[in-house]
Amino acid sequence: MRVLGIETSCDETAASVVALDGDGAPKILSNIVLSQIEEHAAFGGVVPEIAARAHVEALDGIIEAALADSGVALADIDAIAATAGPGLVGGLIVGLMTAKAIAAAANKPLIAINHLEGHALTARLTDGLDFPYLLLLVSGGHTQILAVRGIGDYQRWATTIDDALGEAFDKTAKMLGLPYPGGPNVEKAAQAGNASRFAFPRPMKGSAQPDFSFSGLKTAVRQAATAIEPLSDQDVADICASFQAAVADALADRVSRALARFRQLFPGTKNPALVVAGGVAANLTIKAMLERLCAETGFTFIAPPLKLCTDNAAMIAWAGVERLRAGMAQQNGFDFVPRSRWPLDSISTPMVGSGR
Ligand code: ATP
Ligand code: MG
Ligand code: FE
Repeated sequence: MRVLGIETSCDETAASVVALDGDGAPKILSNIVLSQIEEHAAFGGVVPEIAARAHVEALDGIIEAALADSGVALADIDAIAATAGPGLVGGLIVGLMTAKAIAAAANKPLIAINHLEGHALTARLTDGLDFPYLLLLVSGGHTQILAVRGIGDYQRWATTIDDALGEAFDKTAKMLGLPYPGGPNVEKAAQAGNASRFAFPRPMKGSAQPDFSFSGLKTAVRQAATAIEPLSDQDVADICASFQAAVADALADRVSRALARFRQLFPGTKNPALVVAGGVAANLTIKAMLERLCAETGFTFIAPPLKLCTDNAAMIAWAGVERLRAGMAQQNGFDFVPRSRWPLDSISTPMVGSGR
């Protein structure tokens, strides 16, 4: 089975071919990702109109390159899988319509994929993980904990009630005059900083509600930054280190709650695992904290290679493979309209094709 995947939901234009033969391990035959970071950097964040135009310009070439790299002719592709939501609607339209055109011209099935399902199933592509497992998704647009119980069977246990975690890193960077994207720059500055200089809040820590919140922390960072005039490099480093420590601490509280809940709800699971996905998974302080929590609670910690943690099309092609193999591809993907909002747990109910 060979599936061509297409991803255009945010600021990466991506295409990939994933193969699964018999009972063997899946193979990523090609995985091309064009990041638009430079186009958005001047604006300190992703500009939807610029993103959509950049997808239009790049997508054809990226798909051609992904097919060429894979060595598979379009005629030998079994299905086209494209991200249909959630995300920026301009980019989704570009990707899904291109996928529909290719599928119609080549007479192939079209599978509309939920971007979050792509992130959720990646650990099965990279590590052959069995259901159920726990997923922590921390990216620029999402901060969620999901119980992944099966294909199309996801329970969202926690989400952010305000900012996403990557967004909090990006906004903190902006306030401190560090370049976009903020995450890597905050992490780098933090290395030279004193993490205990500022006692920033740990939002939601100890709360019975399972969700995340980061806007209070952002406000505390702003207050600290504006109180110091002028800000020295050391001040910036100390704020970054203190911010990162607060984030790791707040996150640890939320994740240990979820690990305990997983134990309670899935007591028979032989090898319980926590999978991390999203760009924030690159952060070494956060990664070390998650590793420690897992070691303490008997969970296996799985962090797929960063290239498959951040937005990519291999995860979309793989979700297509999983759905095709399980006989769970929608009957008519051609009727599917892009959805800017599409919570993953709503996927458990049968998908309705037409938005007309
Ligand atoms: P989506 O949320 O739609 O999946 P996205 O493009 O916003 O997509 P990713 O590409 O997965 O998300 O990740 C980008 C985010 O990850 C940015 O907010 C960035 O600041 C953050 N990030 C990247 N590296 C680090 C790091 N080392 N530490 C903390 N955050 C990081
Ligand atoms: Mg991105
Ligand atoms: Fe993503």
